[in-house]
Amino acid sequence: MGRDAGGRALRRRDALLLTVAGAATTIPVSGSSGTGPSAFSSSYAVARRRFRNAARRARAVLEGLPLPGCGPGGETLAVDVATVGAARPARAVVVSSGLHGVEGFFGSAVQLAWLEGVGAGRIAVPPGTAVVLVHAVNPYGFAWRRRANERNVDLNRNFLDVGEPYDGTPPLYDRVHRLLNPDTPPSRADLFLLRAAWAISRHGLPALRAAVAEGQYEHPSGLFFGGHGPEASTRLVRDRFWGWTRDAGEVVHLDLHTGLGRHAECQILVEPVHAPDLGWYRARFAPARVVSVAQEGAYAARGVMGAWLSRHAEGRRYRFACVEIGTHPSLRVLRALREEHRAQRFSVPGSPPYERAKEELVECFCPGSRRWRRAAHRWALEMIGQVLGG
Ligand SMILES: [Zn+2]
Repeated sequence: MGRDAGGRALRRRDALLLTVAGAATTIPVSGSSGTGPSAFSSSYAVARRRFRNAARRARAVLEGLPLPGCGPGGETLAVDVATVGAARPARAVVVSSGLHGVEGFFGSAVQLAWLEGVGAGRIAVPPGTAVVLVHAVNPYGFAWRRRANERNVDLNRNFLDVGEPYDGTPPLYDRVHRLLNPDTPPSRADLFLLRAAWAISRHGLPALRAAVAEGQYEHPSGLFFGGHGPEASTRLVRDRFWGWTRDAGEVVHLDLHTGLGRHAECQILVEPVHAPDLGWYRARFAPARVVSVAQEGAYAARGVMGAWLSRHAEGRRYRFACVEIGTHPSLRVLRALREEHRAQRFSVPGSPPYERAKEELVECFCPGSRRWRRAAHRWALEMIGQVLGG
């Protein structure tokens, strides 16, 4: 789930908000081929190994940038960057995954499939172009099956500028803080859905929506916390991003997300800063899928990665879009975030409640159905192809 965006997306979400389905989660063991559902990996460690192996087969320039901490199996956590194409490009196409940790199960599969396509000769990079794949911007969240990072920070609320304070909370957040963030282990008996419906009827959906997803800077143990300063992943992206693009004058950046919108449908979310450029996005992607955050009634989230990079492009023609693939109804997604957060704080790793909460979170950000995986994977590869073709 990227920044909550356009009105159309939000209206869809409104319609879906009170529809909650049951769930079962399976993450198939990864196969050897990078096509379709088999490109999805069973864990961060497996995904990282496959990404790096595929990068070598594609003769990519590969860089591993370790971050503090380790995964549940003691594995290294790192942002890996694979670059294919021109050494001095006029244009760079960046595809990043896992800014929201657990969403990396999807983004990593897309990157793997693309690299395997290059390795097998099915995909070619046009002359004068470099393709930069940034794998697992939030490796901790990917490895531990969380949306936030090791300090409970939503990295897509963490990219604030110098002089922009890390404080403030949407007006209603305090009112729903206890509902969203109970100080107890996961429980099936706390009537969250009923209490959420009551909160919606009392406060109204638009205000609650803003309170929940805009980002907040005053409850470090709460959902959608934007941090108290730039996190390690944030500093890494800020410091290295323009080096990864090898001084290309034109940069197109697709950031891969899941969890917002209709099941297995794709949206291209365009930040307000790129609103004057909407024609460019609509010419490259199916116009009906392009959602303008500025024009379609979204609220203003702070600290968004693409907006920060846009402000610091320094003469380059930088275009950013969030590729969002819908998964399950949004109230189910919110409940999964809430329960996983409780499990992370209060349950024993490996215990049944812990595993149930983690598995449901993965299901909500990377559904196990082959149909969803085939569709999601196809959408994203199509988007990358459309950027490269243009
Ligand atoms: Zn996201």
